[in-house]
Amino acid sequence: MKVTFLGGADEVGASSTLLDIGGTRILVDAGIRISPRSSRGIANSQLPDLQLISEAGGPDFILVTHAHTDHTGALPMVVEQYPNVPVIMTRPTFALTQVLQKDAQRIMKSKHDEEGELPLFDEISVNRLMEAVQLVEFNQPVKLGDSIQVTYYVSGHIAGAALLVIESSHGTLVMSGDVSKSPQRTVKSIEVPRLKADALVLESTYGGRLHANRHSEEIRLMDTLKRVT
Ligand SMILES: [Zn+2]
Repeated sequence: MKVTFLGGADEVGASSTLLDIGGTRILVDAGIRISPRSSRGIANSQLPDLQLISEAGGPDFILVTHAHTDHTGALPMVVEQYPNVPVIMTRPTFALTQVLQKDAQRIMKSKHDEEGELPLFDEISVNRLMEAVQLVEFNQPVKLGDSIQVTYYVSGHIAGAALLVIESSHGTLVMSGDVSKSPQRTVKSIEVPRLKADALVLESTYGGRLHANRHSEEIRLMDTLKRVT
């Protein structure tokens, strides 16, 4: 089992991981960087290192943990190259990805009109992505070829977000995606599956800091709404 991080490993943004499990290549997420950093004075691209996908021979399956743009924003570009590869996600993730991609198209169009910035991809690529989607239910194992299976478990965070358990004779790999252990008004908290993992890839965005208190954030939101209405 080989795990290659194409982005997102030491940053928030461009989350994308390529797995090679006994010769089957699985891409987990392909996000973009919302605010590209510069490193040694060179502006980093918005994209994960997609070149490594083609160097590896292309993916056999694409799995999506959740809809946030830092996990899905580059998917149309991947599907452009590999239109026949299934893109597996939950139904709420599909619905939210459609909304976010429509929004991305609008933003890219206005950047093109105002600043002459070339869009990363067009509406045709977004439609191709939507056509490649295969929906999956939570807690229902899905076969990836003959010898691998993936199960999507509720990870909290946002609607449809999943923690992926990928099992094969090479071992059990858990990819957490983004997780939330506090329940929200509309989204449950993570349901940690009871199993023995051989490897865990765990997000750590808030590993070293505390979330704002949800109750006081709700009051702040209501105050803001009152001011603008
Ligand atoms: Zn997220």
